[in-house]
Amino acid sequence: MSKRDYYEVLGVDRSASPEEIKKAYRGLARKLHPDVNKEDHQAEEKFKELQEAYEVLSDPDKRANYDRFGHQDPTQGGFGGQGGFNADFGGFGDIFDMFFGGGGGGRQRGPQRGADMEYTMAIDFQDAAFGLTKEIEIPRTETCDTCSGSGAKPGTKVESCSTCKGSGVQEFVTNTPFGRMVNRRTCSTCQGTGKRITTPCSTCRGTGTVRRRRKIEVKVPPGVDTGNRLRITGAGEAGERGAPSGDLYIVIRVNKHDFFKREGTEVYCDVPISFIQAALGDEFTVPTLYGRESLRIPEGTQTGTVFHMKGKGMPRLGNGVSKGDQHVRVVVQTPTKLSDKQKEILRDFSKELGEEAHEPSKSFFDRMKSAFKGE
Ligand SMILES: [Zn+2]
Ligand SMILES: [Zn+2]
Repeated sequence: MSKRDYYEVLGVDRSASPEEIKKAYRGLARKLHPDVNKEDHQAEEKFKELQEAYEVLSDPDKRANYDRFGHQDPTQGGFGGQGGFNADFGGFGDIFDMFFGGGGGGRQRGPQRGADMEYTMAIDFQDAAFGLTKEIEIPRTETCDTCSGSGAKPGTKVESCSTCKGSGVQEFVTNTPFGRMVNRRTCSTCQGTGKRITTPCSTCRGTGTVRRRRKIEVKVPPGVDTGNRLRITGAGEAGERGAPSGDLYIVIRVNKHDFFKREGTEVYCDVPISFIQAALGDEFTVPTLYGRESLRIPEGTQTGTVFHMKGKGMPRLGNGVSKGDQHVRVVVQTPTKLSDKQKEILRDFSKELGEEAHEPSKSFFDRMKSAFKGE
């Protein structure tokens, strides 16, 4: 029952104007009229075909529908669909589908993959250095265990979807300016399952999924920093009816540390020293991420001097072997609670220095003067 294309019947272009269609019809009607073609047995058939073609193409609405759906105009019945059809053809995506989905294949929208989820995890500074395994609890959508995601009460009958006859796919034949296209889309009645549930699963009320708080073990690798995202494949929301689950993204936030600061793999800290240590040099222990380490400073160390402790910084993420450095800035503390005896010793010391006791400030003022010269 292959029906000829109406434009073909009338012998006009798809872009033909109403006048051209009318003119073509009149010419053919005269030629094909059964009264003038008494010998031709098919004349009546041909004439009927012509009349039908003209009836559709001369009516702007019918012509528009024909252009869109071909002979299987859903608005004229004879199409498996019921309701919901116009809604399906409403959006921009459908127009896109119509022209690019084409060629008989068409884009199929199967059951949707589950949504990705994001979880922010705060971890301690030290844990960022060594990594840790932490159990978190997240609420998420999971496949219903009772019905294994089918949505039907176990043991009950599941019928074929009447809309798509169980295929899960609806076919729409479309006539476009580029030719005839078969457009397949997920059945809107059964959402592509091809099934009709007679008795919904009581656990999930027929949705096939349930909300549940789930414990998930997260392995945080050494070297992570604030803003790093770890992906746990498949730990996100459950997919529709057996489709893959989404992913879970763990967004790391490293808590501030009282003593250490960090920039990438480099760790910074300030260590107070006495002016005696600064003047005479010393060796003392400094906390690092890996325990206390010895640091030697030379005599005559100025306040603010930074010492580098190689390999005592954060590990490089994903590498696990190479580490950054720890940068120790010494800050000379001026004594505030001196005994009378200590003060006396310092005065004696100052006398001993003579001119030198005032030297640092003298040279500073000399430099100031040269900086303002010419003003
Ligand atoms: Zn269920
Ligand atoms: Zn269906």
